[in-house]
Amino acid sequence: MKCRHCQSQNMKPFLDLGSAPPSNSYLTREALSGPETWYPLVIRVCGDCLLVQTEDFASRETFFSENYAYFSSFATSWVDHARRYVADMTERFGLGPSSRVIEVAANDGYLLQWVKERGIACLGVEPTASTAAAARQKGIEIVEEFFGVDLARDLVSRGWQADLTAANNVLAHVPDINDFVSGFATLLKPTGVATFEFPHLLNMIAEAQFDTAYHEHYSYLSLTAVDRIFRANGLSVFDVATTPWHGGSLRVFACRSDASAHPRSANVDRVLAEEAAAGLLDADSYGAFQRAAERVRNDFLEFLIDCQRSNISVAAYGAAAKGNTLLNFAGVKADMMSFVVDKNPAKQGQFMPGSRIPIMDESAIREQKPQRIVILPWNIQREIKQQLSYIRDWDGKFVTAVPSLTID
Ligand SMILES: [Zn+2]
Repeated sequence: MKCRHCQSQNMKPFLDLGSAPPSNSYLTREALSGPETWYPLVIRVCGDCLLVQTEDFASRETFFSENYAYFSSFATSWVDHARRYVADMTERFGLGPSSRVIEVAANDGYLLQWVKERGIACLGVEPTASTAAAARQKGIEIVEEFFGVDLARDLVSRGWQADLTAANNVLAHVPDINDFVSGFATLLKPTGVATFEFPHLLNMIAEAQFDTAYHEHYSYLSLTAVDRIFRANGLSVFDVATTPWHGGSLRVFACRSDASAHPRSANVDRVLAEEAAAGLLDADSYGAFQRAAERVRNDFLEFLIDCQRSNISVAAYGAAAKGNTLLNFAGVKADMMSFVVDKNPAKQGQFMPGSRIPIMDESAIREQKPQRIVILPWNIQREIKQQLSYIRDWDGKFVTAVPSLTID
């Protein structure tokens, strides 16, 4: 295995989850009579550039299909986050009617709708047909392609050199990270700003968030690695902020290295120092994460077995990728968890990949009154607990498995 950034073969262990099907490959009822393809899910750290990454076993087309079912707008608080981002960036970088804003991985237009509302020209890049169609419904122009240097050149030639680019939760999802990052150096105006949000590896390790690992998630990013990768591809990191998303994310601000239009903030060195203090500069220390993942899995299985022995009914909320990683690593099937509820109508009536647990709409909770509800996307547990607060009527309790088992 070669590092996807520096080509080094000096790869060291980080996390081995055995194997799992692609986490967004939800199954129809008809598909249940057929087989599923499981791919190894093994993550390593590069001993040279410190990029944490999956080993590739299949092309990205395997993982991002036409039916890719994740619609950002289903998480209300994420849409609010996007609205505040647009307000903050407009003010900080003085965006106006002559500015150009591009979002890569624009999804269903959850963010660009706020740019459009301000009368600023915007364009989305989104390779997934179903979400691209939803963005067009909001009146947003979408280029339905994967992003990289070639597309960036094409956009610049069509008058889309950017004042601001946003790329949220996508940097970790690109197999060719060098081409992707170079694309932003190509796309930006000399004074332009590129922002990237991604889950912070530091939190993943500190909070035992092994369930953020899945095949579509090719890299697990520290600022240390991002700073190096950006520099090698024509971008300079000039600021960084932390956000609570996905259990603790970074928002990295970058500009073109050849323009250096923005001075480097002390925040950058502060986060780099935090990572160094946590041992992230020592590739040999990353292997300890495996034991943290196994501890979480064992406690979760023990809880499910106890419930089964005591006739306590268990269901789950949120048919998200995270949940599939946890359920498949733990080997959970529908005999231990009767159903999963999800807001997204496209997933309802289908089955979770691997575990084959049925996905239902929320009425199943009101009708079946499960005594325990496992919140699989623990990152939005507050929102879910509010939404489902009525389970207290039958003494129902909420359960989360990561970073450690809680029942309340
Ligand atoms: Zn490397």
